[in-house]
Amino acid sequence: MPALDSFDVVVVGGGWGGLATGALLAHRGARVLLLESRGACGGRASYQERDGFLLDYGIHAHRFGKAGEAAALYEALGEKLDLVTPRRGTVFHRGKHHAVRHKPYQVALSGVVSTREKAALASALRGLAARDPAKLWDVPLARMIPLSAGADSRRLISALSGFGLISEDLNTTSAGEFAAFLRKAARSRFLISFPRGGCHQHVRRLSALIARSGEVRTGTRVRGVTVESGVVGGVDCADGRVSAGVVVLALPAPAAARLVGEGVLADSSREKMSKIVPTAGLTWEVGLARPVSEADTAFCTDPLIIGAFPSNFDHLLAPPGKQLATFCMPLPLSAFDDPDGLRREASALRRKAFHMFGRLEENILWERAMKLPMIDGAVPSVSQPWPARPGLVADGVEGLFLAGDTVGVPGQGGDVAFRSALECAPLVMDYLG
Ligand SMILES: Cc1cc2nc3c(=O)[nH]c(=O)nc-3n(C[C@H](O)[C@H](O)[C@H](O)COP(=O)(O)OP(=O)(O)OC[C@H]3O[C@@H](n4cnc5c(N)ncnc54)[C@H](O)[C@@H]3O)c2cc1C
Repeated sequence: MPALDSFDVVVVGGGWGGLATGALLAHRGARVLLLESRGACGGRASYQERDGFLLDYGIHAHRFGKAGEAAALYEALGEKLDLVTPRRGTVFHRGKHHAVRHKPYQVALSGVVSTREKAALASALRGLAARDPAKLWDVPLARMIPLSAGADSRRLISALSGFGLISEDLNTTSAGEFAAFLRKAARSRFLISFPRGGCHQHVRRLSALIARSGEVRTGTRVRGVTVESGVVGGVDCADGRVSAGVVVLALPAPAAARLVGEGVLADSSREKMSKIVPTAGLTWEVGLARPVSEADTAFCTDPLIIGAFPSNFDHLLAPPGKQLATFCMPLPLSAFDDPDGLRREASALRRKAFHMFGRLEENILWERAMKLPMIDGAVPSVSQPWPARPGLVADGVEGLFLAGDTVGVPGQGGDVAFRSALECAPLVMDYLG
């Protein structure tokens, strides 16, 4: 195989995990090559332009805004992430809209539940936030809800877990993961913010930072990692070999495991990487001829729907006078085994959105519906809370590192991808000496 080039580090995958790791390494002076198989970077957080609308791949928010992991990444890069924060939300519960502000707890404690239930809900949430998450990783959330909590409180806790962790099943969600989320929410000023201009901001800025001390090469699929005598030597692509002292695999762990030959990784590492279960669900995005709601976000408790009108708080996203709406209905991965059931869920999502917003249907200019077997890389269940997931260093191969949203660092979805980069980059720099 002809040798193409030589770099300090090859990062495989141009999603948030790869772009963030590559940018941090380039910032610290390493010569980085990022290889992305698709025609553009972004991965699951890609974006497109459609009839003047700037469209993310489903709703893409950053938990905890300025106090979140995406903002921490830019701070480590000596830059500031440009965020927009939604202010007005609506929660649709039992056929009625309830106005909420995006302050932690207020979402759950607004007028959605009766005064009696509110007290039970507040005590259940406070009780959970006071517990040490590390002692609850393998405890199902259902076991931590006091018996005194009524049906509405249970539904709200489940919906809050669905919103925060994309995991609403009380019987499988890790109480430790939920407690960790609540603790962070209690300390943060805002629950969510969005990158101004959508996910495009990350791809543009992080790619430019990598290019200062290396290169981003799109349309280049990596076929395998080269390993000699237990030490990484680089990667193989269709047109040749790239040699590097370090390879960072920034793609979902099962795909990363497949890139490393059989018998190379330690068995325990390969097994952990291969069996990760993602969150899944449906999304529905709509370009609207005129605004149909003044709400910035729209949340339905039953069925759980996480929605937003992102153009209400970010005017870059829709042409003047028009509105962008986006809805996501999380579902267990097992729902994808039943295509008819999935079609029924997709029409239920549309019908519920029409029920929530009376003028939505008549104003549709275009729509995009997607069935996504992977939303976040790992569902935070009792069988795979973050400490049980693969580490940042691949066991069995020197110079091989992992990043992206399936690795074992705290958080959920994109937070994991950004946090993995923040923790992986210093390890790589130490290894390079
Ligand atoms: C609809 C939807 C909504 C979401 N909403 C949110 C949200 O609101 N907040 C949040 O924090 N997270 C959200 N997420 C999750 C978030 O998008 C992911 O956590 C994040 O994008 C994962 O980044 P990653 O780099 O780990 O993986 P990926 O984005 O999957 O990137 C991996 C990259 O590797 C490339 N690749 C794969 N194989 C190869 C190969 N052999 N050679 C070269 N390149 C390869 C892929 O093309 C891809 O670009 C959402 C996801 C979806 C799908």
